[in-house]
Amino acid sequence: MIPASLLNGLRDATRVLAVSHVKPDGDAIGSLLALGHMLGALGKSSVLSLNDPVPAIYRSLPGADAIVGPQRDAAGFDAVIALDCSSVDRLGRAYGAAFAHLPLLVIDHHITNDRFGTINWVAPECAATSQMLLLLADALGVTIDQPMAQCLLTGLVTDTLCFRTNNTTAAVLAAGMRLLEAGGNLTTITENILEQRSFNVVRLWGTVLDAAQLEQGVIWVTISLAQFEACGANGDDGSLSSLLIRTEGADISATFAEKLGESGAAAVECSFRARKGFDISGVAQQLGGGGHPAAGGCTVPGTLAEATAKVIPLLQQARTNGLSEP
Ligand code: 5GP
Ligand code: MN
Repeated sequence: MIPASLLNGLRDATRVLAVSHVKPDGDAIGSLLALGHMLGALGKSSVLSLNDPVPAIYRSLPGADAIVGPQRDAAGFDAVIALDCSSVDRLGRAYGAAFAHLPLLVIDHHITNDRFGTINWVAPECAATSQMLLLLADALGVTIDQPMAQCLLTGLVTDTLCFRTNNTTAAVLAAGMRLLEAGGNLTTITENILEQRSFNVVRLWGTVLDAAQLEQGVIWVTISLAQFEACGANGDDGSLSSLLIRTEGADISATFAEKLGESGAAAVECSFRARKGFDISGVAQQLGGGGHPAAGGCTVPGTLAEATAKVIPLLQQARTNGLSEP
């Protein structure tokens, strides 16, 4: 159910700052762009803002050119909408103190959402925030046009790995069908966004997969800064964990990627996946991150060795908990 206060808040707004999470993925960008189209259709103006640049694979989405960096001046805005974010820190600099006096409308599907908004619509039963925006469009009487369909389908397809994650319900497929009927192109998304990786990333996968470890139903890899550099790749997007979870005998997968944290201190970005019946969202949240039962992440301070020593036992415990539940 969409809170009536959210619908009223949207109807009252005239100029909106719409934001989503750092390291934006297909659902962050797809839902942000679709919201921009939707607000335009309702005669409202919006500024779409992200902490980080739009990755090249998403730049051809309709309206992507209009996404800007962090805004400092709240003059003229009367509301902020945060999409696909479970906590305020995930917005990075896209949501600054200058906007704190405005109503903050949160639209998100993470079970770990901490309700950081003035009004919070959190729907963990939805596989993507983009799926929620389709419901929102219906509630506001906005017709889904082709550009909106392409943006929403991108979010839905990337968050469900093309309708394969274990939260793919009949409602998710029905949403997908509607977006195809409205002119969404599935093949463009699967071929150019979901499946395509640079040659450098493929070489990086080769290097790190060779050293994968599987113990007590948890499989994991580590990526050092030196390995990123040697392959000319930067950062992990979670797809290695999605690849690893296919391994026979693994119920939970993890990727540990070394990075320089704030003030240059060593830190490790962790990405987790779990098969149906197992839940990594608690571990991700406990470590200061968040996500869903089947996919989550966090950043922990320290070296790769320190991170794996701390996190692997927690994941193995989560795996044991899953085995003991009916
Ligand atoms: P991925 O492994 O694809 O990067 O992320 C999987 C899921 O976990 C996504 O839904 C993402 O929003 C969430 N997630 C990943 N890293 C973090 C984090 O550091 N903090 C929070 N709150 N969520 C995260
Ligand atoms: Mn999402």
